[in-house]
Amino acid sequence: MEKKLVVLSGAGMSAESGINTFRDAGGLWEGHDVMEVASPEGWHKNPELVLDFYNQRRKQLLEAKPNLGHQILADLQNDFKMTIITQNVDDLHERAGSQNVIHLHGELLKVRSLQTPELVLDWTTDLKSSDRNEQGDALRPHIVWFGEAVPEMERAINVVKEADFVIVIGTSLQVYPAASLMDYASDLAVVYYIDPNPAPVAATYQHLKIIPEKAGRGLQMIKEELINWGQIV
Ligand code: NAD
Repeated sequence: MEKKLVVLSGAGMSAESGINTFRDAGGLWEGHDVMEVASPEGWHKNPELVLDFYNQRRKQLLEAKPNLGHQILADLQNDFKMTIITQNVDDLHERAGSQNVIHLHGELLKVRSLQTPELVLDWTTDLKSSDRNEQGDALRPHIVWFGEAVPEMERAINVVKEADFVIVIGTSLQVYPAASLMDYASDLAVVYYIDPNPAPVAATYQHLKIIPEKAGRGLQMIKEELINWGQIV
């Protein structure tokens, strides 16, 4: 039976595609205090600044390409039953070919109604405060901001609990509740953590391997072992 591989990816996953992480920039996200551009308070205080910030991120994303790491993960679908749970709001996993991606923190290429959050639209251009959906509702970026609920969390927890293999990659493990997800892995799961500057991890896993490398290189290093192990464990 195909083994279950779950990937927990963070901003470092997309760093080699030219999209900056924010911890590496001293807690700033593209020069902004994250609370200004990624919180309900920031939105209420200055919605034009927030719209402009995400408009710039959207433009940047449309020029970026998936990197070697995204590609290796997409290839691993040939050997595992895979789910990628990402904190990233970009679509680089999907563009590399990954089919089963849960976006914990929303998606840059979507917007939603302010009145009815379930009404979500694809959006690839700039979002303006005057834009409306067909129902006449005002719109906001489809992003989970700091302090907001994470609607996909329960589904993500259930997927992690079932995993035989977990790859945690490119995350500083500082943003909760996303950072708590790896705690739900079974004691028997094989856990890899790939990050050039890995955060401390409580060593409760029987099989924890920390690979202090960038995403592409780290995945290249573990790929064969993972596939072989997946066939015998
Ligand atoms: P983070 O910015 O807190 O941490 C980034 C991590 O990536 C660090 O541990 C760093 O050592 C590592 N890293 C840097 N370069 C790397 C590389 N080449 N390969 C692998 N790892 C590398 O990121 P986070 O933990 O994901 O939390 C940030 C939050 O900001 C998330 O919630 C996310 O929604 C948001 N964010 C998203 C994007 C994106 O969608 N691409 C970009 C920036 C921030």
